[in-house]
Amino acid sequence: MKQLLSIFLLLFILMSCNKQETNPFFMQWVGPYELPPFEKFTVEHYKDGFNRAFIQQEKDVQAIIDNPSEATFENTIVALDRSYDLLQKVALIFLSATNAQSTPELLAFEVEITPQYSAHYDNILMNPALFERVKFVYDNKDKWDLVGEDAKLLEETYTSFVRNGALLSSADKDSLKSINEQISTLHTLFEQNVLAETGLFEMFVDQKENLSGLPEDLIESAAKRAEKAGKQGWLFGLDNPSVMPFLQFSDMRDLRREMLDAYLNRGNNNNDKDNKQVIQKLIDLRSQKATLLGYSNFADYILEKRMAKTPQAVYNLLDQIWTPGLNMAKTELRDMEALTKILPVEAYDWRYYSEKIMHQKYDLSDEMTRPYFKSENVRDGIFWVCNQLYGISFKALENAPKPHPDAEVFLCLDADGKTELGVLYLDLFARPESKRGGAWCGTYRDPSFSETGQRIIPITYIVCNFSSPTENKPALLSADETETFFHEFGHALHNLFKNVHYIRTTDTPTDFVELPSQIMEHWCFQPAALAQYAKHYETGEVISQELIEKIDNASKFGQGFKTTEYLAASYLDMDYHTQALPKDFDVLAFEAKTLSGRGLIPQIPPRYRSTYFRHTMAGGYAAGYYSYIWSEVLDADAFNAFVETGDIFNKEVADKFRNYILAPGGSEDAEVMYRNFRGSEPYIDALLENRGLK
Ligand SMILES: [Zn+2]
Repeated sequence: MKQLLSIFLLLFILMSCNKQETNPFFMQWVGPYELPPFEKFTVEHYKDGFNRAFIQQEKDVQAIIDNPSEATFENTIVALDRSYDLLQKVALIFLSATNAQSTPELLAFEVEITPQYSAHYDNILMNPALFERVKFVYDNKDKWDLVGEDAKLLEETYTSFVRNGALLSSADKDSLKSINEQISTLHTLFEQNVLAETGLFEMFVDQKENLSGLPEDLIESAAKRAEKAGKQGWLFGLDNPSVMPFLQFSDMRDLRREMLDAYLNRGNNNNDKDNKQVIQKLIDLRSQKATLLGYSNFADYILEKRMAKTPQAVYNLLDQIWTPGLNMAKTELRDMEALTKILPVEAYDWRYYSEKIMHQKYDLSDEMTRPYFKSENVRDGIFWVCNQLYGISFKALENAPKPHPDAEVFLCLDADGKTELGVLYLDLFARPESKRGGAWCGTYRDPSFSETGQRIIPITYIVCNFSSPTENKPALLSADETETFFHEFGHALHNLFKNVHYIRTTDTPTDFVELPSQIMEHWCFQPAALAQYAKHYETGEVISQELIEKIDNASKFGQGFKTTEYLAASYLDMDYHTQALPKDFDVLAFEAKTLSGRGLIPQIPPRYRSTYFRHTMAGGYAAGYYSYIWSEVLDADAFNAFVETGDIFNKEVADKFRNYILAPGGSEDAEVMYRNFRGSEPYIDALLENRGLK
């Protein structure tokens, strides 16, 4: 019998050894820097990954609760932060895939997992036994003499519980859980509706004369698009690389009207992808959530954790810029009317005539600069700027695994040429079938430290939607795209320089996070930088002094329109989250009232209308779209710190910027970081001056 038992035991052990792990999330990622094995992940792996990560974290949390020792900073606060590791690993890779390598299966799973994810978080943050331990540490914080990042971790952990309902009655907790789940489902629905509506509209042109005015590149890509769809002619869509140049260059007024009309009405077509009801429900749920947690409105709730702190502070800033911006936009309109003699100029005329005036006034157009902005040259220019400022360098990693064959991978080395700061992926070209529109920066792995104190380097990525190179032409970027590349690179640098130990102290508030990115834009068109990277893609000749001057002269052109369309969207976002609205409020009427009430002219639509305003309706930037201009006050003022020394590459200032702004991540309060860098509060003057609004 004994022998039989041991045979069974042996068999059992053998069997369990044979059950081989097949999910890459639970296997060692081999190769240098343990880069993600992108080609291996399937939807099944994500499903299994999330499932097991949820279970693992529940166990870890239970272990924290069951710990017989008194709660301490280490055994509760730090242990809780570590319990997110596996889930974070799965979620970061998943998020990058749904945004840039999406498939219908992946998108369907996203709809399924989002509410589960939100419920899982709620279960942790509303767990009374866990909160009791967190609160004990918080109430007795003097015992641990915490400073710096540790103190910040404790503060952030405690407030995250309170802000997620830990102090509510159990009935209210249940209501809040249900609200959160509904909100997260609506975010995904909103996002997917916009994606579908953007893809649905196509404008087919089969007569050559209707292409009048359009640049060659756009015509070429439209022909390709038609060919893909099995048609002979040209197809245009509502994705930015297609619609924006169309509005800017097409001589066909009726077609411009049709395009802009379709663009402005995404999510507002009274079909099954209509977002108006989604918005009504969302705004109502957000308001209920704020009330439940004791705030007078959703903006109050959100802004408490932002640098702005209150809605009043946001409105104060917007108001200071609105009137000069609108006045300038009106001047721009008068210029157009003088040129066109058609009265009135309509919204679908604006970009078109703006381009004409730009050409007339400054003798400058995108087509003149594009040949100098080959994507590889711009990339090398950014590397050069980073090297001038921080002494860092980038080395190509040839055999690294990639999420897509187009992607490039680099190792970032510190000024000593040895210390590895992180790995950077660049995935620059549009893939409308699987990549969302726009440009963004994220991480496959955040920086942290091992138990032995070794820095675990981050793996960061930049995703853009630039036009792909063709057989006979490399990718030539527009001036806007060049600036976007610099912008996203600023986010990547932030990730590469961060020196943080905890998940919860990695990120900065959204109204601060655009400081690292937007400041990079200041170097983009500096003559010294252009002389380095802006070389003609055919002749290699460096951009002429004359063209540099033209770029410089034109830099303030069109700021009335840009400022106004942006601020209009910011007001819309704030008004949705500060005003008491009835459940069945009319979305379009609300939008019209909030905009015309501030004197917005009909020729300028807000940068985003409500039904496709993903920033505010799909999550991240609800009561937060103002963040870009808030950060711009900071970046304009911060760049002046370089200018004031007479050297825009001043290494001392760059060092301070790295140490006080970039390296701390979210381990310090934003306003303290800024003061540490600049020695004072930021002034708005530099922003007004840069935009020509002073
Ligand atoms: Zn950004």
